Amino acid sequence: MSQPFRLVIVGGVAGGASAAARARRLSESIEILMVERGPHISFANCGLPYHVGGAITDRSRLLLQTPASLGRRFNLDIRVETEAVAIDREARELVLRDLRTGTESRERYDALLLSPGAAPIRPALPGFDLPKVLTLRNLPDMDRILEAMADRPLNRALVVGGGYIGLEMAEALRERGMDVVLAELGDQVMAPMDPEMAVPIHEELCRRGIDLRLGTSVTAFHQGDALEATLSRGASLAVDFAILAVGVKPETTLARAAGLTIGARGGIQVDDRMRTSDPAIWAVGDAIEVADRISGEPSLIPLAGPANRQGRLAADVILGRDSRYQATQGTGIVKVFGLTAATTGLSEKALKRLGTPYAKVYLFPGSHAGYYPGAQAMSLKLLFAPDTGAILGAQAVGADGVDKRMDVLAMALRAGLTVFDLEDQELCYAPPYGSAKDPVNFAGMVAANVLRGDVALWEPEELPAGPDQVLLDVRTAAEHAAGTLPGAVLLPVDDLREGLHHLDRGKEYLVHCQVGLRGYLACRILTQRGFKARNLSGGYRRWMLWRGAQQTGPGVR
Ligand code: FAD
Repeated sequence: MSQPFRLVIVGGVAGGASAAARARRLSESIEILMVERGPHISFANCGLPYHVGGAITDRSRLLLQTPASLGRRFNLDIRVETEAVAIDREARELVLRDLRTGTESRERYDALLLSPGAAPIRPALPGFDLPKVLTLRNLPDMDRILEAMADRPLNRALVVGGGYIGLEMAEALRERGMDVVLAELGDQVMAPMDPEMAVPIHEELCRRGIDLRLGTSVTAFHQGDALEATLSRGASLAVDFAILAVGVKPETTLARAAGLTIGARGGIQVDDRMRTSDPAIWAVGDAIEVADRISGEPSLIPLAGPANRQGRLAADVILGRDSRYQATQGTGIVKVFGLTAATTGLSEKALKRLGTPYAKVYLFPGSHAGYYPGAQAMSLKLLFAPDTGAILGAQAVGADGVDKRMDVLAMALRAGLTVFDLEDQELCYAPPYGSAKDPVNFAGMVAANVLRGDVALWEPEELPAGPDQVLLDVRTAAEHAAGTLPGAVLLPVDDLREGLHHLDRGKEYLVHCQVGLRGYLACRILTQRGFKARNLSGGYRRWMLWRGAQQTGPGVR
């Protein structure tokens, strides 16, 4: 009698558990074995920082499923504390080691799915393997951090790395009353965003008492009475413990040893059906390389959404459905105390690196109607193709309403919409929620104005103004007095028509206002009356972000 089809899954969290559940929903007759090296399956790794910080008080809430509950519901053979140590591709067998007993066994497979994730990077530098130098990937790691927090004579911790996990952990430790130093090698936190869009995050971190050290790396740790961190700049630091959050690297040991093809970025190479170079082996999640949705370039994008979707899709394909993965666009979001920062698609720096032509606009719309209490302005940057208006990327930072705008923009990007389509989207509106022109519509209108030639833009990098240019501030006298661009002359937009005779048609006017709207009006007046004028997209607010990013050199806090 022939044996039943057997699916074996390595890794029991985001991608692995999604694949197992989907496979069972599609077939009641196959055998499914899921092996997990750690003690837990299907836990909420994304929730770990929030238990450390105290927002999630009950640790058991992080355990979404137990092997018993998931196994029973989906009729799965689940083995925790079991490591897959080798793949015998010829025999189609996986070699397993029971980590409690050390015994090895072999399991046959018809289809093998790898979802081993990515491991925190631990640089090979002196002292980086000390017990008080911690990383965060799973519940045992979190427990070690909580243990370290219980014994904190200095009440000071060092977080190394200003990415998603570093930011979340800096906030979590601060919420627990610790003094936190956040050291980041680059000149900005949140590397997927552009430097000027990270400025509000830097300000929020400093406002909340985080000692932010940009352009600073840790070169060594030494354990004395306290943990001593040697920094690339400034005096060494004594802390109770450190958290390394300098990135993750795909877990490819098993795949490499089995001779599967590894891509240019160091992840397991798969096709759009998640199939590796071996037709009986699939791979998903943080361990694989994906094609970037816009550039098509191979990318490592370790996020939970893609891992879950890929796991589900691989199960589809294994069970005979013709599903295809539609690439990853890197939609990410992070809470930094009172701010939300989110990004989708390519950043300006990535577009520059790729040599892709782009245009960009900045705006600072309210989260909802200004006359309804509690509206908060957000900083929004939209990148788009200068010829077609196709959306290439978007970034936003603000205290409220960022997530929903970025989700709409992420979906628009995926659907291949243009800035002209954004003008036309019909979105939810009542005063507590939005505006009749939602920030998404507004972003489309501002960008479409540029593409239709209604207004031309100038960039802060063009300053100082040349001899044939005049920097014109069209805000009110009070706003001008409170701070303006160096060398700007004042002519409020409401006085512009009467003041035109003071202006010179031989000059070009570099116009700015507070957020870009009055500057646009002024440019419309000026250009229709025969003057040369360009607007600063985002106005003075955007210039302040730009200046903030210029000033954020190494060591600047
Ligand atoms: P994982 O979920 O990491 O699962 C891989 C599992 O495979 C691991 O449990 C590992 O023990 C096991 N394994 C590895 N090798 C073997 C082997 N040889 N044998 C047996 N088992 C093995 N993403 C977001 O989108 N939003 C967030 O807010 C977010 N927050 C995060 C916060 C933290 C602290 C962390 C660590 C990650 C966060 N992520 C977030 C990333 C997200 O968790 C991952 O992208 C996602 O879990 C990847 O899924 P995966 O299945 O590839 O790997």
